[in-house]
Amino acid sequence: MNTRKKRIVVLGAGESGTGAAILAKDKGYDVFLSDCGKIAPKYRKILDSEGVAYEDGSHTIELILSADEIIKSPGIPLDSPVILAAKAKNIPIISEIEFAGRFTDAKMVCITGSNGKTTTTMLIHHILTEAGIDAGLAGNVGNSLAYQVARAPHKVYVVELSSFQLDNMYDFKANIAVLLNITPDHLDRYEFKMQNYVNAKFRILRNMTPSDAFIFWQDDPVITEQLRHIATEAQMLPFAEHLEEGTDAYVDAENNLIFNTPGTSMTMPRADLALNGLHNVFNSMAAGLSACLLDVKKETIRQALSDFSGVEHRLEFVADIDGVRWINDSKATNVNSCWYALEAMTRPTVLILGGKDKGNDYSEILPLVKGKVKAIVAMGLHNEKIMDFFAPYVDKMADTDNLDDAIAAARDFASEGDTVLLSPCCASFDLFKSYEDRGTRFKTAVHNLEHE
Ligand code: ADP
Repeated sequence: MNTRKKRIVVLGAGESGTGAAILAKDKGYDVFLSDCGKIAPKYRKILDSEGVAYEDGSHTIELILSADEIIKSPGIPLDSPVILAAKAKNIPIISEIEFAGRFTDAKMVCITGSNGKTTTTMLIHHILTEAGIDAGLAGNVGNSLAYQVARAPHKVYVVELSSFQLDNMYDFKANIAVLLNITPDHLDRYEFKMQNYVNAKFRILRNMTPSDAFIFWQDDPVITEQLRHIATEAQMLPFAEHLEEGTDAYVDAENNLIFNTPGTSMTMPRADLALNGLHNVFNSMAAGLSACLLDVKKETIRQALSDFSGVEHRLEFVADIDGVRWINDSKATNVNSCWYALEAMTRPTVLILGGKDKGNDYSEILPLVKGKVKAIVAMGLHNEKIMDFFAPYVDKMADTDNLDDAIAAARDFASEGDTVLLSPCCASFDLFKSYEDRGTRFKTAVHNLEHE
C-alpha cells in the first residue's frame, strides 16, 4: 500500500501562507513553504518553531512542482512563472480560505466588494461579539482563517475576502455572503478586463444553497447587471438607499434605517449610527442584515451599530485645532472611496490628495469638489494630473511633495469651521510605505500642530 503523505506546497509566507502551513502540518500533510521574497522575522520564527520546511529568496521549482496541491497566497499574481508552471502540470492551486474551509463546520459570513470590506467585516464582528457569539475575524484582517481553524477555532467566522482570495476558491461555501459594490480596481491583475474582476467578485456565491443568504447593494449597476446573467439558489437580501421592489434594508422618509429579513423586522434612526457618511449607511445595512439572519436581538444590533468605534484610517477624526477638524481617510486609495468621504463632509473642506496614480479619472468627484472643496493640496511625486484637472475649478491649490509641506499648506488654507480631509484617491507608495504609514504619519503631524 502506498503510504506517501499528500504533499502540500504553500506559496508566500505572510499571514495567510504561514497559517495555511500550520493547518496543513496539523492535518498530517507533508508541507513545504516557498517565498521568493524575504520572509518577515515574525513568520520565520513561527515556521521554525512549528518545524515547517521552507525556503525564501527564490522558488526551487522541483520542490514546488512535486506538490499534490498548492496553496497560493493572495498577493501572488495568477500569471507569475511559478503559477503558470504549476498550471501546466495540472497541479490544483487553491487559496488559504478554500483550504481552511475543508476543516471547519463553522458558519461563514463573508464580505467582499471594491470598497468598505474591512469596515463592514469589523462592524459585523463587533455586533456578534456584543451579542455574545463566539466569532473569529479573518481574511484580510486579523489572524488567518487557517491559523484560527487549526489553533483557535470559533463557531462563526466573519471573513473579509478580496478578489484575489476569491480567485482560487472552488468548494468553499459562505452561509452569508455580502457584496458591497463593484467599481474598477486592481484591473492590472485581471488583464485590464472589468468583467474578469466582476467574475472574481461573484465567486463569493459559489455553492450557496437555499438556506444561505446573499446580501448586496441593489443600486450598483454592475452588480444588478451581473445578476441578470447568473443564477444562485441563495436567498437574496438587497439593500438600497431608498425602498425599491424587494429591498430588505433602506432609509425611510423619516430618516430611519429599516431592516426586514424573514425572521426580523427592525428600525433605527440614521442619526444613531456610529459611522458617518452614506457609504457607512450601506455598510451598516449590510452588517445589520447579517446580524438579523444570525438571530441577534434587535436591541443588540441597534446598540452595536451605534457604539462601534470605527476603523483606523477610514474617515478617522484626528483633532480639532482652532475650530478646524482634521480627518484621516488614508485608506481611500481609489477615486470612488474619496467620493464617499467627500459626500460625508458637512463643512467647507481642504482636500489633501495624491500619491501613486492607478489610472484615476477625477471627473467622478468633480461635482462634490465643486460643491464642498475650498482648496486642494496635492501631495505626491507626480502632481501634474491633479493640478491640471482641478485648476479650472478650485481657486486655491498647492503642489507639495512631502507631508510637512502638505500639512503646512492645508493649515494656511483652512479657517475656523473648515475640515481638512486626507483622502488621497491614490496608493501611497511614492512617499510612504503603505496607507497605514501615510495615515499614521499624518496623525502624528496633526497632533504636533496641537502642541505648537
Ligand atoms: P476595503 O477593505 O474594501 O478597502 P475599507 O472599509 O477599508 O474598505 O474602506 C476603504 C475606504 O473606502 C474608506 O476610506 C471609505 O472612504 C471608502 N468606503 C468605505 N465603505 C464604502 C462603501 N460601502 N462604498 C464606497 N466606499 C466606501
